[in-house]
Amino acid sequence: MSSESLIERCKRLEKIGKAASELLLRLLRAGGREEFFNHACTHIKSALEVELCKILRYEPERDEFLLISGHGFGEGVVGKEVVRGYSKAHHTLQEGKPVYSEDVSSEKRFEVPDFIKRHEVVSGLSVPIHFENGVWGVLGVYSKDRRRFNEEEVKFLEAVASSVSAYLEKSELLSELSKEKHKLELLLTYLKDVISIIDREGRVRYKSPSVEHVFGWEPKELIGKPFHELIHPADLEHLLAVKERVFLNPEEPISIEYRFKSKTEGYRWVEATFFLPAEWEKLGLEGAIVSERDVTGRKSSQEKVLKMSYFDLLTGLPNRFLFLQKLEELIKSAERRNELVGVVVIDIANFKEINDVYGIDTGDAMLSEIAHRLVNKLRSGDVVSRFFSDEFGVILPNIKTATGLNKALEKIRASFDEPLKHGETNVLLKANMGVAVFPRDGRDAGTLLRKAELALSKAKDSENGGIHFFSKDLEERIATIVLIKSRLHESIQNGEIFPYYQPIVKLKESKPIGMEALVRWRHPELGLISPSRFIQIAEDSGLILEIGEFIVDKALSDLSALQKRGFYDMYVAVNFSTKQFLDENLPDKIRHNLNAHGVEPRHFLLEITESTAMKEPARTGEVLEELRKLGIQIAIDDFGTGYSSMNYLIEFDVDKIKIDKSFTSAMLENPKAESVVKTIIDLSHSLGASALAEGIEKEEHLEKLKSLGCEEGQGYFFSPPVEFDKLENVLENIADIK
Ligand code: C2E
Ligand code: CA
Ligand code: CA
Repeated sequence: MSSESLIERCKRLEKIGKAASELLLRLLRAGGREEFFNHACTHIKSALEVELCKILRYEPERDEFLLISGHGFGEGVVGKEVVRGYSKAHHTLQEGKPVYSEDVSSEKRFEVPDFIKRHEVVSGLSVPIHFENGVWGVLGVYSKDRRRFNEEEVKFLEAVASSVSAYLEKSELLSELSKEKHKLELLLTYLKDVISIIDREGRVRYKSPSVEHVFGWEPKELIGKPFHELIHPADLEHLLAVKERVFLNPEEPISIEYRFKSKTEGYRWVEATFFLPAEWEKLGLEGAIVSERDVTGRKSSQEKVLKMSYFDLLTGLPNRFLFLQKLEELIKSAERRNELVGVVVIDIANFKEINDVYGIDTGDAMLSEIAHRLVNKLRSGDVVSRFFSDEFGVILPNIKTATGLNKALEKIRASFDEPLKHGETNVLLKANMGVAVFPRDGRDAGTLLRKAELALSKAKDSENGGIHFFSKDLEERIATIVLIKSRLHESIQNGEIFPYYQPIVKLKESKPIGMEALVRWRHPELGLISPSRFIQIAEDSGLILEIGEFIVDKALSDLSALQKRGFYDMYVAVNFSTKQFLDENLPDKIRHNLNAHGVEPRHFLLEITESTAMKEPARTGEVLEELRKLGIQIAIDDFGTGYSSMNYLIEFDVDKIKIDKSFTSAMLENPKAESVVKTIIDLSHSLGASALAEGIEKEEHLEKLKSLGCEEGQGYFFSPPVEFDKLENVLENIADIK
């Protein structure tokens, strides 16, 4: 027991108590580590009235102690002083409980460092500082007196040591927390999203630092300001409504898209979700959490897709879909204002040939040019649309009178008047137009467009093309088409379909040398129908193959009969449509038919039109070669009406070129037509073919053609197409004409 008096002891205990409570306070308010350890040492030193107090941390890797804090004897250098060897600290560590040494000079359990000896330390007490299931370090006090540390003092030191442990735990936790906080900060900085807190008044209370790299703003530039300040005016109303809704409906996330002004790049599309946690006030939130994401990229690709589904890519014009939508709208406003709306469908008749001859790129450029002209010529309220390929649609709203409508149509027509340039060449587009008018022809977009398209199909059929209005009459004609369609199949079986024959004459001698089979249909209700009315329908439905085969068979059997009656050198010409001509089995079928009727191949002339030949020029070349091998003759029909491609014609090996009747009938009055006829005749000869003129209606036609060197011809002058029964008579009469 020490020799101290009771009073002294009481004083010391009081001191210890005070120091302990102060330490606890400090611990609670713990600032930095260093500060805390310093205070711990100062208080221990004065409470226990010792000369020296040290906190040493154990470094297990090197089995050394490092001075963390020390008071007394000039302290030593914190963080540097190292206690090596087997010291009292080592011993405390090993024991795991307080180690007390009354006289260090006689200590046998451990080594006493030199500086302790130098300072004439006599007694010492060390307690371990526990932390995380082990000993973190040692707290030691030394006295110059030979002194026995009493129980309270040991307890006090142990209490301080456990305070240190508590402090270590807390600071560890804090440092871990700050690590988490750091992560959170990084997250909020580098996030692709911007997180904000918006209060009830719409003020920005928080903006995540990510706002800087997402929108270019620094958080401090936005915090405190109304959150809608940088929103596109067009999106503002909706956004403010969403804000109201969010505060009325906690726990309900609401998503919205709007444009937000970035610092450098103008408006960006933002997709935002607003959310107000139910307990937001209790949670200490100032308002709703908003997370925003820049979706401008996605938006623009959406817009592209949208554009693609509403606009034609080549011309940028509205497509048929959008056309119908706009038409619907314009009809509504016309209805209110008692106005007319013109619906026009335009088709470029010779576009296919242009594409074939000049290539698709040039074709496209020409379409763009036409689109441009239409838009420029028409009023800004008019709608110009491209439906597909060479088909355009125009809506003419705000029209009050028929005269007004005509003026607008005239403008459309005028768009095609001026030729398009292709290098040195001028290309004239031939446009057909079908027109339907609201309210006369229909009251809804679909009906009006359909009627305009029907009118267009009529415009295509008519000789001069041009503008065609939808009419009652047209409706009737269309009904006829339906009638034709529905009976076409039966007609073949019922023998309603058969050929008429028109003689083909050798002009020099006025001698019949052939006959062209021209199909007719004796319809039970409609009477005799010309091929121009049903061939296309048959072609579209595929029935043309059946009709064609029947005609070939009939023509050969009729020819064979005729030959037996003395017209041995006659040939028969048969017209082939595109489908028939491109039929893979065509050569076989012809060979078979020739054999069946015992007709020599040279007495069979296959006619294809120029446009059929140009549909698939390469394929045409192959088919023609195969057909030549059969030994039959081949003619190009309606020459000059399509878009003649010299290159290909030279390649194709044909026997005859047929001059279209439009040239023949015009050549007497029109020198240009005459020169076309002459050119075709000369061209035929240069290709080793002969020329055959159609539409010879007058003697003058005959004389002119003869003078130009045309070999063969046909036309009403000699004979119209007649039934087979009458043909023999006709042929005999022709020989007499001369
Ligand atoms: P296409 O081959 O050019 O036939 C000549 C057309 O001119 C015939 O009309 C004929 O009746 C008419 N024609 C004959 N001489 C004269 C004349 O002096 N003046 C005038 N203005 N016209 C004359 P059609 O018979 O109505 O035949 C029309 C078209 O139908 C034919 O034109 C041909 O392309 C096609 N066609 C006729 N029969 C068949 C067939 O069996 N199969 C196929 N695929 N098409 C056929
Ligand atoms: Ca023909
Ligand atoms: Ca013809």
